[in-house]
Amino acid sequence: MSTRSSLARRHSALASTAEQLRILSETKEIPPFDTMVQERNGSSLRAGGIDIFQINVGKLCNQVCAHCHVDAGPDRTEVMSRETMQLCLDQLAKTPIPTVDITGGAPEMNPHFRWLVEEVRALGRRVMDRCNLTVIFVKGKEDLPEFLAKHEVEVICSLPYYQERETDRQRGVGVFDRSIEALRRFNAIGYGMPDSRLVLNLVHNPVGAFLPGSQKAIEQEFKRNLARKYGIQFNNLYCITNMPISRFLEFLLESGNYERYMDRLVQAFNPEAVNGVMCRNTISIGWDGRLYDCDFNQMLDLEVGFSAPRHISEFNYELLTNRRIVTGRHCYGCTAGSGSSCGGTTA
Ligand code: SF4
Ligand code: SF4
Repeated sequence: MSTRSSLARRHSALASTAEQLRILSETKEIPPFDTMVQERNGSSLRAGGIDIFQINVGKLCNQVCAHCHVDAGPDRTEVMSRETMQLCLDQLAKTPIPTVDITGGAPEMNPHFRWLVEEVRALGRRVMDRCNLTVIFVKGKEDLPEFLAKHEVEVICSLPYYQERETDRQRGVGVFDRSIEALRRFNAIGYGMPDSRLVLNLVHNPVGAFLPGSQKAIEQEFKRNLARKYGIQFNNLYCITNMPISRFLEFLLESGNYERYMDRLVQAFNPEAVNGVMCRNTISIGWDGRLYDCDFNQMLDLEVGFSAPRHISEFNYELLTNRRIVTGRHCYGCTAGSGSSCGGTTA
């Protein structure tokens, strides 16, 4: 796995979403996802409301992880402007959507991140920050844990594994040690501690071409090991399946695992997992204000379809709450086994 730079920086053919979609659509013997859902669940996938307003504030990141579905990195320049954030806030204020999920890239690298958090909290909504942990060591960001605590932001931190070798293999040399140090700092101000209002959740994803195991069992394993070796505590662990797009797709192709992995996802299709996929209760907003059914569709440039409004400036809560979802073969990543979403398993 290469962890040096983004696909975009390397001018890789896979930097093109059209190329990724071509590979996915030409994979032999894989039924279209929509056909599979219709056969097993009786109808195409539709949203069932909007509980989560997910804002992707850009592709800029201080890390270049091997599996990144965003193709994020320090060389990416796409970041949401304050004007587009204001549009998001104006539309959010007109809706009852309770939760704003801020993601990236490393969301905290966006120069307007703190302002956005303050404004969303002023609207009385809950905020989640998808934090890669090491960002708190970037110059000028050292006080991020205190800022997040002050606004009672829920942090959802990626830590692929509780051991150094696996985590560094996926995220880069030295990332594990810095992640542990960051977790200690979050714990020290109350995050993840018993009886604290400050929620610290971790995200685990497999380091390789396989599906995650049982979320409950892995959570226990993480809790035991992180507490024993490092004295770290956290609330919940979410297991997320690696999606066959962007840099993980590159890894699958280069390692000769692509067809086997796709076959594994399709064989493990679980109709029960379909109801809980994140597109059913989320709207995803891109750095330039375009609307998507989820962050994965966003990274494939698959905008909301079926006559739904396509830009935050045209946001229409009623039209978007029961929109039909745009799907593709990558969606098998959300419905395999116990399912996979931003909040972990779905079945
Ligand atoms: S996986 Fe997260 S931390 Fe890693 S490069 Fe992508 S956005 Fe950054
Ligand atoms: S990839 Fe997106 S659109 Fe497809 S099932 Fe998952 S959440 Fe829904």
